[in-house]
Amino acid sequence: MRQTVLVIDDSLATVRMLGEVLSDLCDVQVATEAAEGIALARTEAPDLVLLDVMMPGMDGYEACRRLKADPRTCHVPVIFVTSLDEEADEAHGLEIGAIDYIVKPFSVPIVRARVRNHLELKRHRDLLESLSSLDGLTEIPNRRRLDEHLDQEWRRCARHGLPLSLLLLDIDHFKPYNDTFGHQAGDDCLRLVAGALRDCARRPGDLVARYGGEEFACVLPGVGGEAARGMAEALREAVADLALPGAEGGTVTVSVGGATIVPDLNTNPADLIRRADDNLYQSKHLGRNRVTMG
Ligand code: GH3
Ligand code: MG
Ligand code: MG
Repeated sequence: MRQTVLVIDDSLATVRMLGEVLSDLCDVQVATEAAEGIALARTEAPDLVLLDVMMPGMDGYEACRRLKADPRTCHVPVIFVTSLDEEADEAHGLEIGAIDYIVKPFSVPIVRARVRNHLELKRHRDLLESLSSLDGLTEIPNRRRLDEHLDQEWRRCARHGLPLSLLLLDIDHFKPYNDTFGHQAGDDCLRLVAGALRDCARRPGDLVARYGGEEFACVLPGVGGEAARGMAEALREAVADLALPGAEGGTVTVSVGGATIVPDLNTNPADLIRRADDNLYQSKHLGRNRVTMG
């Protein structure tokens, strides 16, 4: 599949030129304003962004910060293409998360080579991601692995007439956490919470996975309602014990919803997931940092 590069530059001449010299390497999309470029990046998920720094309205540095702060665009590599040629400008661009820095007027063969290299790296990363069963950020099992494990344990418990419990966990007030401490600190918090949860569920068959965003799931095969509640409390406490300062005073906490079922080979886990999710919602509703089972 052809990859896509998004060029964000207010100079039509630059946009045209880059479009021409890159057209055989990739599809090229263009935006002549930063805000328009950010909106395009969110909806089109380009493989690479070439970003000008000096633009009327929002400049490229601010645009880069916004791209990096949004989970929908933070993994898209950004290359600055700019006439700012001071060492400090380049250092600043790289510091706020750009992967490379090209000074205008640029040499066509060098721009082509760099774009080709970064696109190749991006293709490899995407491939690894698609084959992996680990979440790239937290390095615990991802959603794909969770679904596989749940299906597998569903069938195993059904054959043996054993209960299966599922816990869903969601970090409380995580949006204000990001807004207060920044997206990078938010990522660090996700890693720490993931590690604490993983270290807590150590029996063979237990699986803690990142369910998405700031949500985690824990599959407990062969575990009935009471023991599952005990595990849910242990997970909740493990996060509280990290004692990470929260955005609104207090510390970072999670809410938990759990459900238990004796699986049946003729059904699937959808109903179990829905019940755990309803209970998670109930924990949020009752004030957060608590467990609801049933
Ligand atoms: P509640 O207590 O009701 O759960 O509130 P909340 O703020 O945690 O929930 P909300 O769903 O409003 O916000 C979730 C936030 O999680 C928003 C989103 O930016 C952030 N988030 C999701 N994935 C990531 C990520 O990978 N990294 C970072 N830093 N933040 C993320
Ligand atoms: Mg959530
Ligand atoms: Mg939350």
